[in-house]
Amino acid sequence: MSLASLGSAGGVSDGERRDAADPLRHLRARFHLPEGTIYLAGNSLGPAPVAAFADMETALRREWAEGLVRSWNDAGWFALVGSLGDRLGRLVGAGPGQTVVCDSVSVNVYKALHAALALRPDRNVIVAEGGSFPTDLYVAEGVAATRPDIELKLEGVDAEKIEDLIDERTAVVLVNHVDYKTGELRDMAALNRLIHARGAIAVWDLCHSAGVVPVDLDGAGADLAVGCTYKYLNCGPGAPAFIYAGSRHHEALSQPLSGWWGHAAPFAFERGYRPAGGIQRLLCGTQPILSMRVVDAGLAAIEDVEMSALRAKSLALTDLFMDLVEPVCRAHGASIVTPRAHAARGSQVSITFEHGFAVVQALIARGVVGDFRAPDMMRFGFAPAYLGYADVQAAAEAFNEVMTSGRSEEHTSELQSRITI
Ligand SMILES: *Cc1c(COP(=O)(O)O)cnc(C)c1O
Repeated sequence: MSLASLGSAGGVSDGERRDAADPLRHLRARFHLPEGTIYLAGNSLGPAPVAAFADMETALRREWAEGLVRSWNDAGWFALVGSLGDRLGRLVGAGPGQTVVCDSVSVNVYKALHAALALRPDRNVIVAEGGSFPTDLYVAEGVAATRPDIELKLEGVDAEKIEDLIDERTAVVLVNHVDYKTGELRDMAALNRLIHARGAIAVWDLCHSAGVVPVDLDGAGADLAVGCTYKYLNCGPGAPAFIYAGSRHHEALSQPLSGWWGHAAPFAFERGYRPAGGIQRLLCGTQPILSMRVVDAGLAAIEDVEMSALRAKSLALTDLFMDLVEPVCRAHGASIVTPRAHAARGSQVSITFEHGFAVVQALIARGVVGDFRAPDMMRFGFAPAYLGYADVQAAAEAFNEVMTSGRSEEHTSELQSRITI
């Protein structure tokens, strides 16, 4: 009997019944999932889209090896930043011409913060979240270090709520749509209204919402946004990130990484820098085309279904997991920190537990792959494109077994010495 069918009376589990009725079940075949693995770490690195294997072969053998330098035009390499950007934009509510795929999130945060500061030259405060993914804050510190007058104010440090930090000195608010640790989802439209009422610029980090939570950048009035493609967009390790800027800002937009891909006429090889007209001015230099080629397959794997359908299934999966593990968590002193309210939840379930690291290791040994963030946070990502209800049921059963068997304590001393991630 498979783990998935445990807990069922007559052979077919609830999970299997719900999978059979799932309108998105055909998406799973678009991904390579290793045998015997239930993959709950797609919020860290998404699995490989099957189409990427043939695409890589084509990119290497035909486009690069045969096409050589001609492929910049013939294979559309040079245009990928914008063509993929527009497709990605559709997944996050951005009309065409406002998104480019390029660089890393860290680099794009750097560009976005400088661009925002330049749009508000009479202001000097950057507001961010103290609990943000560290690179966002490291980069904010780096930006602040380029001007002696800039101050960085943090939610959870300088005030309890981010709203209380935004005033007439605030130039830019850098904020995560979904918190990488707790999985909490912010109301983008409401926060934008407040940011704009106080005259500041909003920069959204979509790393944990792009591809899995409906995002409406244009509709919610976002100014700038960044996000990565290797989490819920499944575009591969280190795949290029993206950056968005609302078209109303384009004319006044400037950023300090003024490389030739952001030039108005990159192939004119002019002496001085002249920024390109639109979103292209946020580009810097030559992009990793082989990595960029995988973005096509990652987007193609989900862009033909409604984001609302992905969202409905994501919420159903996280609801199911929480329902199944909550009693055991309560009995063993573990806490689900991800909000129960749908409006405040991304697509992961985070649980704090003293022996969380050992539990995650014991689960990985059973093929249930989640991850751990120090000091005590277990994270389980639920990607609706390739996970089913039976997977969630099996993962919850494995979790409950590990929690109740005491194996977590056994593992603790043995494993704690080799924490790497
Ligand atoms: C994953 C993630 C990043 C990654 O940044 P890179 O520069 O692409 O390594 C940045 N910010 C957040 C919030 C993330 O979750």
